[in-house]
Amino acid sequence: MRKPKCPACNREVPRAHIRRGTFQCPSCGTGLRIPQIGRLVLGPPLLAGGVLAGFLVAHLFGLRGNSLLLAVALLTLPCGFTIALLYGGLLAALFPRLERDLGIDRDGILHIVPPPRPPTGQQ
Ligand SMILES: [Zn+2]
Repeated sequence: MRKPKCPACNREVPRAHIRRGTFQCPSCGTGLRIPQIGRLVLGPPLLAGGVLAGFLVAHLFGLRGNSLLLAVALLTLPCGFTIALLYGGLLAALFPRLERDLGIDRDGILHIVPPPRPPTGQQ
């Protein structure tokens, strides 16, 4: 399992330190957070992936012509949904990105983070 890296010091951040909201980098103390990814950004590539996967599956089953088109139309949604689950889950599990939380979006008030608790579970 690859661990996410701190954008400030480029060291790996243990999963035990990552939580919702703001948390501190255990190495340099920089405030970090998990960036929010818009679902709209993922929509078009997933739809394209669904069409492509549907086409490949139908083609592998030997469908040609109109039956191929029909199969692609039927398979696009379930394939896109499956890809979305796999892709989103894998991306979040394997390559979580972190970004600095500078506290600017909190009306300029410095957000003080409590010190990290001892890790409760290691992978
Ligand atoms: Zn750091």
